Amino acid sequence: MPKLTGNCLCGQVSFEAEGDIAMQGNCHCTDCQQVSGSPFATLVFLKDEDVKITGETKRFEHSVDSGNKLAKEFCANCGSQMFGYNLGRPGMTALKAGSINEKEHIQPQFNVYASSKVPCTIMDENIPAFDKMPG
Ligand SMILES: [Zn+2]
Ligand SMILES: [Zn+2]
Repeated sequence: MPKLTGNCLCGQVSFEAEGDIAMQGNCHCTDCQQVSGSPFATLVFLKDEDVKITGETKRFEHSVDSGNKLAKEFCANCGSQMFGYNLGRPGMTALKAGSINEKEHIQPQFNVYASSKVPCTIMDENIPAFDKMPG
């Protein structure tokens, strides 16, 4: 039951999470590439009630292939991506691994959307990789 803390680049938004990590993994989808500006996003999922957020975020909502709506929250001041939500499966908050201070707890269990990965991205062969999102 690790305690996770983190903040955005400017420090205006911070979080404290206490509870079991439900799952964590790397997402190589085009949306994550665009929103993060990186080849892939490492997402760490906890229950909403286990994540305490401080500071002002802005929210962007968009639809994906599955028909679900996703929401992404970022710092209203510096623009750092902070939190992700799947509105079709409420109850979980996705933290962005890069904003977590306790790096030792970042241990992705899978890769998803491997079919759109940037070719030079090296994936850990010891964890499963899925072309898309597994059903
Ligand atoms: Zn900020
Ligand atoms: Zn993604």
